[in-house]
Amino acid sequence: MRVTQAVRQRLEVRGRVQGVGFRPFVYTLAASEALSGFVGNDERGVFIEVEGPPPRVARFVERLSAEAPPLSRIHDLACADVALRGEPGFHILKSTRAQAAEVEIAPDANTCPACLRELLDKGDRRAGYPFINCTHCGPRYTIVLDRPYDRAVTTMASFPMCAACQAEYDDPHDRRFHAQPNACPRCGPRVWLSDPQGRELAGAPFAQVQARLLAGEIIAIKGLGGFHLACRAEDDEAVRRLRARKGRAARPFALMVPDVDAAHRLVKLTPQDQALLESVARPILLCPRREGAAISPAVAPSTDRLGLMLPYTPLHHLLFQGAALGPLVMTSANPNAEPLCVDNDEALSRLAGLADALLLHDRPIARGVDDSVILGGPDALPIRRARGYVPEPLWLSLKSPAPILALGGELKSTLCLLRGHEAILSEHLGTLSNPAALRNFLGRVADWPRFFEIEPAYIAVDLHPGYASTRHAAKLDRPIIKVQHHHAHLAACLAEHGLEGPAIGLIADGTGYGTDGQIWGGEILLGDLARFDRIGSLYPFTLQGGDAAAYDPWRPAAALLLAALGEIPEGSLPVPSALATRLMTREALQTTSLGRLFDGVASILGICSKNRFEAEAAMALEALAVAAPQAPALPWALIEAEGQRRIDWRPTVRALVASTAPLEIKAAGFHAALAAAFAEAAARTAAASGVGLVVLSGGCFINTPFRSGVRASLEAQGLRVLTHQRVPTGDGGLALGQAVVAAARLSAGLR
Ligand code: ZN
Ligand code: ZN
Ligand code: FE
Repeated sequence: MRVTQAVRQRLEVRGRVQGVGFRPFVYTLAASEALSGFVGNDERGVFIEVEGPPPRVARFVERLSAEAPPLSRIHDLACADVALRGEPGFHILKSTRAQAAEVEIAPDANTCPACLRELLDKGDRRAGYPFINCTHCGPRYTIVLDRPYDRAVTTMASFPMCAACQAEYDDPHDRRFHAQPNACPRCGPRVWLSDPQGRELAGAPFAQVQARLLAGEIIAIKGLGGFHLACRAEDDEAVRRLRARKGRAARPFALMVPDVDAAHRLVKLTPQDQALLESVARPILLCPRREGAAISPAVAPSTDRLGLMLPYTPLHHLLFQGAALGPLVMTSANPNAEPLCVDNDEALSRLAGLADALLLHDRPIARGVDDSVILGGPDALPIRRARGYVPEPLWLSLKSPAPILALGGELKSTLCLLRGHEAILSEHLGTLSNPAALRNFLGRVADWPRFFEIEPAYIAVDLHPGYASTRHAAKLDRPIIKVQHHHAHLAACLAEHGLEGPAIGLIADGTGYGTDGQIWGGEILLGDLARFDRIGSLYPFTLQGGDAAAYDPWRPAAALLLAALGEIPEGSLPVPSALATRLMTREALQTTSLGRLFDGVASILGICSKNRFEAEAAMALEALAVAAPQAPALPWALIEAEGQRRIDWRPTVRALVASTAPLEIKAAGFHAALAAAFAEAAARTAAASGVGLVVLSGGCFINTPFRSGVRASLEAQGLRVLTHQRVPTGDGGLALGQAVVAAARLSAGLR
C-alpha cells in the first residue's frame, strides 16, 4: 500500500490578526482538515505551521483567507515549505507578549450575532448586560490608550476580570480568548441613569429611559465614542424642543432605527445600502426618504434624504428592547463644530441644560470618535470617516521613502500618517476655526505619532497660509511640504484606489487656495500623485464678503447676475440692487468655487437666502432637481481662453432668469447643464492628452444628480471614472491626498 505523502508549510500572516480571534479560528480550521502543527503570534502578526496530505494543506491555506474571523484583515500571507516534524495534533502556542509594534488596532465593531443572542438569552450570564463583547465584536479604537493592544493599556484596565471571564480570556478555544474588553455584570462596567445634577436615579435604567422617551423627554446617552442626545423622532414636539435647546435651526438630525425593517419604512434602500447599514462599521447612511415617512418634519427640514443607522453596541440594542419607541433621533450631544463630549463630569456640565436625564456608564472613552456618514446609492460615497473605519490603514501602491504626517485642511479636518505603503487616516476632527476643535486636533497631532510609533520625517500641509493646520506645521520642526488643495483631492481618490495616475481630476469643491492666490473650487486638473497642471475651471466670478459669502447665497448670486446680465435686476435679491452692485465693484478675490455657484443659483431661484448650515442652499437646490429627472439641460458653454478651458455658466444664468418653467425644471436643468459642461471639459482634456482616467473628487460631488450626470456622460464616452469609496470626497480626505503627494514628490526628487 502506498502511504499518502505529507507536506509541512509555514505561513506568516500580517495585518490585523491579534485580539480578533485569529488563533482559535486557525485551531478549529486545522482540526477540521485533520492537520497537525501549531499557531502562535509575535510582534509581526501570526505564524502557523501545518502538516498533512498536500490537498488538505492547500485547502487549509485557501480557507485561511476565505473564512478568516470578521474583524481580521490579512494584508500579507507568506507560505514556505519546511521540514516534516510528524508531531501529533495541533497546538496554540503561548503568546510571547513581545512588542506588537506592527500589529494593527481594529476599529470599533458592531455587536456580533453570537453576543446579541447571549444578550437576549434570559439564561445567559450576560443577559441584558450592555457591555457584552467578544473577539468578533465590541469596542477597540475608542478604548485603546496605547499599544500593543492589551487590556492593561485600554480603559478596561480598571476592571479586573472575575474568574469566569478570566477563564474565557485564557482559553484558546473560547470566543473570548484574549478579548481585551471582556466583561460581565459581576466584574465589568455598569450603566445608570442620572438626573442633570448628577444624582443617580433609582430603578432599571433602560426601562426608565424608554418611559421617559415615550413621555417626550430628551435623554443624553453615553455610547462608544461619545454622547448622543436622543428623543423619539415621531414626537414633533420633542424634536423641536431638541432643536431649540441645541440652538440648531435646520441641520439634519441622524436617526437610529431598531432594525432593517424599520429602516425600509423610512427610506428607499437598495440591497447594497442595506448591506452597508448592517455592516460591522454601522455607519449613518444617507438615503432618499419615503413619501409619508412617519417622523417629525423637524428631523431633516431642508433635504429629501434621511440619515439612518442601526444599533451598534449592546447598550443601543437594549434601548429598543421591549418598547415601541419607533425611530430615535441620535445626534451628537456636543454643540455644532465642537469636539465630542467623552466623560461623565464633562457631560454633566455641558449637557445639563440640553438633556432631561443622562444614561451614563463607567467605561471611559479613550478618545471621542463620531459616527461615520456614507451617502447611499449605487456609488456609495463616504462623507465622514470615523467610528467603525478608523484606524484601519489604507494600503497604497506607492511606497513612501520617509514617514510623513499630513495635517489636512481646515474644515472636516483629519490627519494622516504615512509609512511605507500604509496610510492611517484619522477620524473626523471637525472645524479648526473652532477653538475647542483646534485643541482637540492639536492633541491628536501630538498623540498619533507616539500611538502608532511612526516618527514623521516630513509634514505635509495645505497651501493656504491662513489654515490653522498650515500655521501649526511651522511649530513641528520638520521639513514642510505644501500641497495645493485640489491636487490633494485628486491624489486622495487615486491613492485610495491603489493608483498613481496620470488622471484627469474633475474637482467639484467649495473653496481651496490656488497656486495664484485666488480661491479655486470647480477645477479641471491633469496630473499624477507628484504633479498637476490646471487645465481649466469654472468661469471665475467675484467672491465678495470673504467668509460671509458662504453664509449669504445672495452675495455669489449678485456676482453671477452682474457677470451674466451686466446688471442686477431690481427685486432679484433679498438686498437692494444698488447696494449689491456697489459691493460687487469693490476690490475682491476672484473665485471658481462650485459651492458658491450652487449657492448663487439657489438664491437666484429664490429658494434659499441664508445658509443656516453648510450647503443648505445647495441641498435644497438638489432636492428640487431630483424631482424633475427628465428636465432638459439649460444652455452652457466651454470657452478656451488664456490657455484655460473654462466652463461658462453665464448662458445658464441668463436662461434661468428668463425661464418661466416650474422651479423643479429650472433646478434640474441647471444640474444637467453643469454635469454636461464638466463632462465635456473632461472629455476634451482626455482627447487632447490621451489620458482615459477621470477622477471625481471634492465635496460638491455629494450632489447626486450632478455626480451621476457627469459619470454617465463620461462612461458613455468610454472613459474610466473613479469616485471615492474609502475616504471622504470632501475635505476629510485631504490629509491622505497631502501625504501621498508629499511621498510621490520625495520619491521623484521634487519637493
Ligand atoms: Zn461578539
Ligand atoms: Zn466577569
Ligand atoms: Fe475641498
